[in-house]
Amino acid sequence: MNTRCAACSCEKLHLTIEGEPSRIAMCHCLECQRRTGAVISNQARFRREQVTIAGNVSAWTRTAESGNVMTFYFCPICGSTVYWENEGFPGYVTVAIGNFADPNFPAPNIAVWEETRHPWVALPPDTPPKRLAKQG
Ligand SMILES: [Zn+2]
Ligand SMILES: [Zn+2]
Repeated sequence: MNTRCAACSCEKLHLTIEGEPSRIAMCHCLECQRRTGAVISNQARFRREQVTIAGNVSAWTRTAESGNVMTFYFCPICGSTVYWENEGFPGYVTVAIGNFADPNFPAPNIAVWEETRHPWVALPPDTPPKRLAKQG
C-alpha cells in the first residue's frame, strides 16, 4: 500500500496517510484563495481511518455557501493549513496537496468554483471543463 506524508511548513504537524485518495479536486473559490494566499487550492480527500495525525493543531471553522460547516486545521507555529473536515462528508479528511511536497502526487480531476477562477490559471488537460459540484 502506498504511504504518503504531508506536513506543515515547519514540519511539526505531520500526517501519515495509507492508500489512495477517493477524490482529488482543485478549488477556485475566493475563500480558498484567502485561506491559502494562492489563487487556487488543490486538495485530496481520504477516509479518516487512512490518516494518522501527529503534532499540535489549531482549528478554524467557517460555514460554506453550501451550509456545511468546515473546520480547517493548521499548525499553531507556522500557520500552514494542512487538512480540514467538512460536516457534509463525515468520515473524510481533506488534505492540501501542496503539503505533500511531492511533484508526483496525482493531479486533480475535478475543478470546482470555476466562476471565480483566475483566467490565467490553466487546468490539467483531462480536468472536466465545468464544475461538477460545489464545495467549500
Ligand atoms: Zn508548522
Ligand atoms: Zn474553495
